[in-house]
Amino acid sequence: MRIPIIAGNWKMHKTASEAVQFVERIKEQVKGTDVEVVLCTPYTLLYPVKEAIKGTNIKLSAQNMHWEDQGAYTGEVSPLMLKELGVEYCIIGHSERRLYFNETDETVNKKVHAALKHNIKPIICVGETLEQRESGQTNTLVKNQVVKAFEGVPGDRVAEIVIAYEPIWAIGTGKTATSEQANEAIYNIREVIRELYGEEVYTEIRIQYGGSVKPDNIEEIMNQEDIDGALVGGASLKPDDYVALVNF
Ligand code: PGA
Repeated sequence: MRIPIIAGNWKMHKTASEAVQFVERIKEQVKGTDVEVVLCTPYTLLYPVKEAIKGTNIKLSAQNMHWEDQGAYTGEVSPLMLKELGVEYCIIGHSERRLYFNETDETVNKKVHAALKHNIKPIICVGETLEQRESGQTNTLVKNQVVKAFEGVPGDRVAEIVIAYEPIWAIGTGKTATSEQANEAIYNIREVIRELYGEEVYTEIRIQYGGSVKPDNIEEIMNQEDIDGALVGGASLKPDDYVALVNF
C-alpha cells in the first residue's frame, strides 16, 4: 500500500518567523490526515521549521542539495548538513533548477545517489515543456529523465524514492494538466520503473503530480488510480489552502 504524500514546495518564500507562524496555524488541523504531510522549505527555514514541527506529523524536506559531503563549493549545502538538521526528504531536479541553475539529468543522478547515501528520500522532478508535449515527445522525454535519474540506483532503494511528474507548462500558470493527462503520464512513469526494476518494486514507488494543484482540484487529482500525491507550490503558501489540500 502506497501512502499518499502531499508536499508543499515553498520555493523562495517566507522568512523564519512567517514559517513558524505557518506551522503553528496548521499543525492541529493536519493531525488527522491519512496522507504524509511534507514541507519543502528554503535552507534558512529548515532549523526553525524542524523545531516548530516537533511532536507533529509534519515532515521536513529541502528543495535542493549538492552531491558532495563537503568541499570548496561556495554557497552550496550538502546532504550531510541536511541530514543532521533532521531533513527527511529533498526535492531533486525541479524544473526551475534545471532551467535557471543548469541542473542536468547527470547532476540529478549524482544528487539522488548522495541523498540515498545519507538516507534522505529524494523527490525527483520530471516533466515536459508545452512545446515538447505538443510535438508528442512527452513519453520519450520523461522516460529518458527517469532512466537517467535512476542510473545505478539499486532496486532495494527504489521504494524510498518519490517521483514528481510536473509538466512545466502547468507550473505556476494556473493551467493544470487534466487529471487524465496526469494519470496517463504517471502510469507511463510507473511502467518505466517496471522495465527497470521488475514486478516487485514498481508497485512500491510513489509518483506525485505537480503543477497548479489547488484545494478545488486536489480531490479529482487524488482520485486518479495511479497518482500517489501532489507537489504543490503556490497553494502551499497559505495555511488554509495547505490544510485543505492535506485534508482533501
Ligand atoms: P505550482 O508549483 O503548484 O505553483 O504550480 C508546483 C511546483 O513547482 O512544484
